[in-house]
Amino acid sequence: MHDFKQAAHDNLTNTHLRQTLRKSTRTSLLKRSQVVQELGEDTWQQLRRRAHQIKKETIAHLDEYLEQLEAHLTEQGVQVFWAETAAEANDYIIQLAKREGASFVVKSKSMTTEEIDLNPALQAAGINPIETDLGEYIVQLAGERPSHITAPALHKSREDIARLFQEKLGIDYTDNPQELTKIARQKLRQKFLTAKIGVSGVNFAIAENGTLVVIENEANARLCMTLPDVHVAVMGIEKVIPKLEHLPTFLRLLPRSATGQKFTSYVSLIRGAQSSGKAVHLVLLDNGRSEMLADPRFHQALYCIRCGACLNTCPVYQRVGGHTYGWVYPGPIGAILTPKYQGLTQGKDLPFASSLCGSCTDICPVQIDLHHLLLWLRQAVVSSGSDRHLIEAVAMKFWTITMISPLLYRLASRLVRWLPQRAFHYIPGWTETRDFPSPAPKTFREIWNESLK
Ligand code: SF4
Repeated sequence: MHDFKQAAHDNLTNTHLRQTLRKSTRTSLLKRSQVVQELGEDTWQQLRRRAHQIKKETIAHLDEYLEQLEAHLTEQGVQVFWAETAAEANDYIIQLAKREGASFVVKSKSMTTEEIDLNPALQAAGINPIETDLGEYIVQLAGERPSHITAPALHKSREDIARLFQEKLGIDYTDNPQELTKIARQKLRQKFLTAKIGVSGVNFAIAENGTLVVIENEANARLCMTLPDVHVAVMGIEKVIPKLEHLPTFLRLLPRSATGQKFTSYVSLIRGAQSSGKAVHLVLLDNGRSEMLADPRFHQALYCIRCGACLNTCPVYQRVGGHTYGWVYPGPIGAILTPKYQGLTQGKDLPFASSLCGSCTDICPVQIDLHHLLLWLRQAVVSSGSDRHLIEAVAMKFWTITMISPLLYRLASRLVRWLPQRAFHYIPGWTETRDFPSPAPKTFREIWNESLK
């Protein structure tokens, strides 16, 4: 099981990683804030409210919109596969690749395929997955996972990437971004031209007319979707939106929040196969989403459009980086999705990986109340009793009784000042990850009374 505390400790002592994270997240936040300011605060807040309302309505009637979407896609000749689990989704794609006789597939960036571990499943079946998004290509070369939802290689500096290319591709060292991109493009171009299957994610799917929307900057997704004869799109069931008229709201919010752009370079709207001889498949993934949907508090986590802004602004993410979180979704949204999708035991430390400053909630383009969800998850972890030190549990019980009795509170606040300071240096379960503040020399009541004299 992933040990968040140990990983956080290790990464906090990695100065190079912290510098890279600080630079990257600051740049992302700065670019985002510039394009939001250009739009104007009022317009921005209106867009956020509108997006929240659209998502709220969609999630409230998700079954109806998904059925509409399926009906329209089927009319257009798209084969729709409902995958309840990751294993079902992977198996469907593997069988498809085998039927097509594909020894490899080209892939564009998709957190949903990361979530289902499609790459290891394909490899186990003897099919080579080739990531074609530059960031994903870099992390695949490094044998790692993405550390960020929209910027997979955010944890790597330019020099790290240069050394990686030199080592893995056998080229001369260069840290010139244009040259590195050119090298990756040359390596990938031949794969695009010969691939039998292309796999992509989906940013939005429009229920009223069965359009799949993919947004990107490198055109690699467009090549994955158009050059091979078979295109397999994989999307979580929450990505549906009711109408085409809702799309512009998200197209204005997502690039600004994700990459600080007014608009992404490419927006592809796919309606069935583009020509005869081509086939389009859509894998609709549940993988725990229905359970989330049934939870009245947490179903709002399904509003997420995976922009990654909450990661960039989170003081914890900025310091420890995405790999520390132990699963595909890092940062505040990951600290909610991991315990919900992978189980409370697996993600028990994550809700505590937050200062509860609320910056994630303030920045979220669809107004998910992230920090309160984290707080409620903390309650769930504590109530489950998992990993709670007995002494901490007794201390908290005593604290609760004391806090609701003025007399006991007064006595306790005097008592703690008589205890030697070292008594607070080690409190099991508490001081392992934080300091216990020394009691103030005077209580507030004493200071107040003195001020009245
Ligand atoms: S929770 Fe909000 S801010 Fe975070 S990735 Fe999702 S949409 Fe973006």
